[in-house]
Amino acid sequence: MSESPTEGTATDASTERAAEETPGDDEERSEIVLEVENLRKEFGALVAADDATFDVERGTITGLIGPNGAGKSTIFNLISGFYEPDAGTVRLNGDDVTGIEPYKIANKGLIRTFQTPRKLEGMTVREAMLIGPQRQPGESFHKLFTAPGAVGERERANMADVERILEEFEIDHLARQPATDISGGQMKLVELARAMLAEPEILLLDEPVAGVNPTLANKLADQIRRLHEQGTTFLLIEHDMSFIMSLADPIVVLDQGSVLMEGTPGEVRTDERVADAYLGGGGV
Ligand code: ADP
Ligand code: MG
Repeated sequence: MSESPTEGTATDASTERAAEETPGDDEERSEIVLEVENLRKEFGALVAADDATFDVERGTITGLIGPNGAGKSTIFNLISGFYEPDAGTVRLNGDDVTGIEPYKIANKGLIRTFQTPRKLEGMTVREAMLIGPQRQPGESFHKLFTAPGAVGERERANMADVERILEEFEIDHLARQPATDISGGQMKLVELARAMLAEPEILLLDEPVAGVNPTLANKLADQIRRLHEQGTTFLLIEHDMSFIMSLADPIVVLDQGSVLMEGTPGEVRTDERVADAYLGGGGV
């Protein structure tokens, strides 16, 4: 499948922009949730991330775009602890989280989805939701003895959360279906719903509408807007230009592992360097 940007799945061209919103009452927290500083990652002779530096401000839907192979997914892997950088720093709410394990970063409130969702074989959608990337005290063997009540209560709370989120995402009718039997688009919705169960402060989505039909893409966009209005900060990779332009502000443009520019959708759309990068990268 082509990874070039498409205009196929337009969402309503919302003029609302996250940057115009006033910050919440979370006054003592920094305005910057995520700081990526001089990140570098080499694969042999290839430099996939090359001195990449950008911030994600609290309350924004920040876009991360760039031609195929620009290093977007690599940056996600570096931020979320799946790859260790060769150089550079990742800070989450001011804490240095560079190179720490993914589950620790998840526990600090940063959750990511994958460009290619993992196969959830042998379980229903509801079961898949229950093994979402959550903060689960039940996973600690020790706590089963020291706080068994808390574990049982937590499990009941998890079940209730799953039912609530299935309804909110309008996928409760899929709850009993095998997770491998639903469409790719529905799978993307399930992925987003699972990620939300962890109640992330910042959610990183890698191409949430790749291969998703326009109706489901619109539904995903609506869900992202709803969650954003409820206070979740997003860092969003997407190849579909109309999708990202209607949702994200600011947009960070990555090219050959480095940040080429950052700006509003309008600025990005009219920037010649961006057009050149996409032409050079082999697809507009
Ligand atoms: P994007 O998500 O922007 O399309 P990627 O981050 O997936 O780009 O890839 C950036 C470059 O790094 C590509 O040339 C890709 O082939 C390479 N790359 C990514 N992951 C690996 C890996 N695990 N091993 C070797 N090369 C990789
Ligand atoms: Mg990618």
